[in-house]
Amino acid sequence: MKNQSNRNRVINIIKALSKEIPDSIIALKFSTPFELLIATILSAQCTDVRVNEVTKGLFKKYRSPKDYAEVELKELEEDIRSTGFYRNKAKSIQGCCQELMNRFGGKVPKTLEALVTLPGVGRKTANVILGNAFGIPGIVVDTHVLRVSRRIGLTKNNDPVKIEFDLMEIVPKEEWTDFSNLLVWHGRRTCVARKPLCDQCVIRRWCEDGSKI
Ligand code: SF4
Repeated sequence: MKNQSNRNRVINIIKALSKEIPDSIIALKFSTPFELLIATILSAQCTDVRVNEVTKGLFKKYRSPKDYAEVELKELEEDIRSTGFYRNKAKSIQGCCQELMNRFGGKVPKTLEALVTLPGVGRKTANVILGNAFGIPGIVVDTHVLRVSRRIGLTKNNDPVKIEFDLMEIVPKEEWTDFSNLLVWHGRRTCVARKPLCDQCVIRRWCEDGSKI
């Protein structure tokens, strides 16, 4: 019963947010699944704007997994330095590209099970790629989706993987990717971390926190 009412709320939320944000595509710029994989690894603890600035040059210099795997680690670190945590990210990117060449013929795999075996790739990154590069539905629980779905009252959990499974129960599968992107945009523009703008919020009537205010 609870799930049914949550499903109804979700449908209304998707309708209202799609109307408000018709262009809710992912903000990271890419032209291939491989580019999105690299951009998503770089986006940890970094803004999408900064990642897009860095990848503009990076994607011209490095075109394939082989290019990243064969470059000196130090050089790659310098190339991605401004995204922060660059040592770990460079190591992940090189390890990931090595695995792509060794096990997947240089191609990005199309299943969650295979993607999460790559260095630097967890469920969040895997779902970003499935949904946005391959059109295979995936729920992405980033900091915005986590915060907004808790405030709305769609989950009581704090753990991103548990939240992903809660949302999979109540969001129609064909909407998983769009729903995630809508919540990210809503979290950036309206349901911001410090002080949500509830008086301007188009989904307030379906939000548990908003209706208390
Ligand atoms: S009503 Fe407030 S807390 Fe609820 S989703 Fe909107 S901005 Fe966020």
